[in-house]
Amino acid sequence: MRILAVMCHPDDMELCCGGTLIKYKKQGHEVFVCHVANGNMGHMEIMPEELREIRAKEAKKSCDMAGFRLISADIGDLTVNSGNEEQLSKMIAIIRYAKPDVIITHSPNDYCSDHVETSKLVFKASFDASCPHFMPHLGEATAVTPIYYSDTDSGMNFIPTEYVDITEEMELKEKMLSCHESQAKWLKDHDGIDVIEEQRKLAALRGTQCGVKYAEGFTPLIASQRMRPYRVLPQ
Ligand SMILES: [Zn+2]
Repeated sequence: MRILAVMCHPDDMELCCGGTLIKYKKQGHEVFVCHVANGNMGHMEIMPEELREIRAKEAKKSCDMAGFRLISADIGDLTVNSGNEEQLSKMIAIIRYAKPDVIITHSPNDYCSDHVETSKLVFKASFDASCPHFMPHLGEATAVTPIYYSDTDSGMNFIPTEYVDITEEMELKEKMLSCHESQAKWLKDHDGIDVIEEQRKLAALRGTQCGVKYAEGFTPLIASQRMRPYRVLPQ
């Protein structure tokens, strides 16, 4: 299968679904990771343009560790907007390029506007991409793709209905997350948290809920044409 994870900021992939993507890759699937926002506002001292470049390098280093193909929509932080036609066309082009069998993105109930808008952008673009006469210059139409929503920040307002055991993938997930050095500092300064420690707590909680050490939780988008008669997430 071809997997497309559309996450907002450059470290969200590791936090929300990194273990699951590592598992897909180990099982021989092709994994594409798209960052919608470039992360340029995520620091107290480093200025936006410099930070944008630092974060692109951090993301590349992380994706290279797992053999993921990285795509950036390069939209400025705090400006993700699902009603913006330029952003919609970028997302349609990315979906038509990746031709995914499944898309993983943020929950529409997540904690910040950029995450919520990313989710809405994916929902719209993944249907629009299936219509061959809509923006035909952006590539060949795709099928209407199943969408899985990943856990929210701290698991707030999110009840998973599907779980992936990531116990064996946890070590690499944490190494990949550690590539985002600028964010370890930002999250300490802005939110007062140790990001490695926090994500481990959530993975342990989701693990407890499904009887393994560490897990990631998801919910499917339940809608016509988005369903499949087999399990889409990795075993
Ligand atoms: Zn984020």
